[in-house]
Amino acid sequence: MVAMTTPISVEQFTEKARAFLDQHAEKKERERAFVWGEGSDNVAMFEERDRKAEMEIVRQAKQWQSTRFDNGFGWITGPTEFGGSGLTPAHERAYASVEREYRTPSLGVFQIGLGMVAPTILAHATQAAKERYLRPLWRSDIVGCQLFSEPGAGSDLASVQTKAERDGDEWVITGQKVWTSGAQFSDIGEVICRTDPGLPKHKGLTCFIVDMHAKGVEIRPLRQMTGGASFNEVFFNEVRVPADHILGAENDGWGVALTTLMNERASIGAMGGGETSMFVRLLGMIRHYGLDQDPLVRDQLADLYITSRLAGLTSQRGMDKIRAGQTPGPEMSIGKMALVDNQKKINDLVAHVLGVKLQADSGEWGTFAWNQLLLGAPGMRIAGGSDEVMRNIVSERVLGLPKDVGIDSKSPFRDLKVGTQKD
Ligand SMILES: Cc1cc2nc3c(=O)[nH]c(=O)nc-3n(C[C@H](O)[C@H](O)[C@H](O)COP(=O)(O)OP(=O)(O)OC[C@H]3O[C@@H](n4cnc5c(N)ncnc54)[C@H](O)[C@@H]3O)c2cc1C
Repeated sequence: MVAMTTPISVEQFTEKARAFLDQHAEKKERERAFVWGEGSDNVAMFEERDRKAEMEIVRQAKQWQSTRFDNGFGWITGPTEFGGSGLTPAHERAYASVEREYRTPSLGVFQIGLGMVAPTILAHATQAAKERYLRPLWRSDIVGCQLFSEPGAGSDLASVQTKAERDGDEWVITGQKVWTSGAQFSDIGEVICRTDPGLPKHKGLTCFIVDMHAKGVEIRPLRQMTGGASFNEVFFNEVRVPADHILGAENDGWGVALTTLMNERASIGAMGGGETSMFVRLLGMIRHYGLDQDPLVRDQLADLYITSRLAGLTSQRGMDKIRAGQTPGPEMSIGKMALVDNQKKINDLVAHVLGVKLQADSGEWGTFAWNQLLLGAPGMRIAGGSDEVMRNIVSERVLGLPKDVGIDSKSPFRDLKVGTQKD
């Protein structure tokens, strides 16, 4: 591994990055201008892959991430103590910008493990757990998933009923999680459990790192309306977790979960803004159907371009705060809302231009294929906090409006009427 503990300027680091990428990746040829009707018309938000194809993508992603890590480019801003390169967000941005010039495998399968679980471990895990998990996670020897949602606890996450009970040096977890993305190829998960039903619902929760291969963990795939199965139900049947796998303090899991959720909004929000290829594709479609002089369509497209750029910059501010070790503020919720709003604008524009061509597969290039984007988009409005919940956050924490009436923050959880709650 290239040691990068001594200060290195962004320019020197960029040179090193270029030398590394020249050696390990293929430079992209000059991007050919997009031509409507040529190449793939796939614009899916959630890829529909069978398990074999998915595992191949995971294998390629792991190979690339471990090569980056071994050369000091895998965790650029991470503390050197745990295998990071100890550099700044500016170094990270410089690397990302150079890497975009090369053909490299997608690392999307690590979005949850590295974007959400790893930062939470860094912020809240015991020293032993940090030493055990951070390096393998960032080297992608292991993959992480997020086990928060339950059938009776999604937006109202503090209503989780999966319980964890202390037994000597271990905790024993029993319950059901749902919508767990990527559980099928994950090795560890961050799980939130109820540890004291006698406390108000936000107070009796604790987060743990759980081994997804442990005895008593059962993972069942869920099929979504786009056809793929990237989510799962995960059942815990008396799964044993060592006491030092706790995140934060006992009954303090709400704060830990918020760290993860902030990072989730950041990683979803960070997907906004860089929509140039989508924009170019939309423009191609509009020209193909002779609508590029239509004032209404031109107005829609210009609006989309401006709001996408603004969303990207807002998310960038939040991401920079995270990389600098600060807690991002409302920009994460705003960035997420802006992303899904822009997604809706794209869908409206596509529907306006294509009309009935979207409804049945006639075999015509670049028509029915948009369906995969339109059917995937509602998922993005829900994932990482639904639109309504984001609006609640902004109205309460930014605008100072009164709290959501649904939240009872005083009564013991066991006295609340939540789903089919059993003690
Ligand atoms: C693509 C995707 C990936 C996901 N991945 C994961 C994952 O990896 N791990 C994980 O734990 N979870 C995951 N989830 C689950 C996600 O976090 C939940 O779906 C989300 O929190 C909403 O919860 P719910 O589905 O139970 O809906 P509910 O909370 O039941 O909401 C139903 C509707 O009621 C509205 N609503 C609820 N409360 C309020 C309120 N107080 N005010 C106004 N309106 C309200 C909501 O906006 C929504 O429209 C994923 C979801 C999606 C779509």
